[in-house]
Amino acid sequence: MNKSVIFDIDGTLLYARGSGRQAFGTAFRAAYGVEYCNVDKICFVGATDSNVVRNMAIESGITNTPALEEHFFMVLARELDRALATQKPLVYAGVPEFLAALTQCSLALGIITGNIRSTAWSKLRHGGIDRFFCFGAYGDDHHERSEIARRAIRRAPSAAPVAVMIGDTPLDIQAAKTHNLIAVAVATGWVSAADLAEAGADLVLDDFSDTARCVAGVMNLLR
Ligand SMILES: [Mg+2]
Repeated sequence: MNKSVIFDIDGTLLYARGSGRQAFGTAFRAAYGVEYCNVDKICFVGATDSNVVRNMAIESGITNTPALEEHFFMVLARELDRALATQKPLVYAGVPEFLAALTQCSLALGIITGNIRSTAWSKLRHGGIDRFFCFGAYGDDHHERSEIARRAIRRAPSAAPVAVMIGDTPLDIQAAKTHNLIAVAVATGWVSAADLAEAGADLVLDDFSDTARCVAGVMNLLR
């Protein structure tokens, strides 16, 4: 193990089929005591869970507190795990094979996500890909993606510093560049390959379906 690669989750590894959005509505009602009317309009692309719930509270005219936020996260984790147990996340084509191949190249794999810790692992577990990852940083660590990335970098195995970050939005690319990491982008999410290239990704992949090509692309950047 000589280097680590960190992955975003939603839009990069899998799609939770809208389970997150529903769970946000239920958890907000439980923790903040009011209905949030714009659940269908929440933008999760490149967002962090901490930022999303803080904005929901502001829009609802509620003063947020750490206690309310923690209660929200607790209910969110329970609701989402329950939903994902019956409606499994869609793991994108080639993802398990790509993760297995990177592991065989002696790379350590980690998570950098705006999801809170419990929902991040819940999505990976229900998607059957949790076993590939050995560290991570999450949306309840901080509300800004580049600060979450800083924590993921700090948590990597000491023998395998983080060299590559893989995500599906310009915000992932920006976070990678902030920390001098190689930015790999995949267009399986909600941003086109052209826009990801424009945002400065070092490598843009349409998806992970061609394992050999994807692994070669990452290994070339590591040379
Ligand atoms: Mg994403």
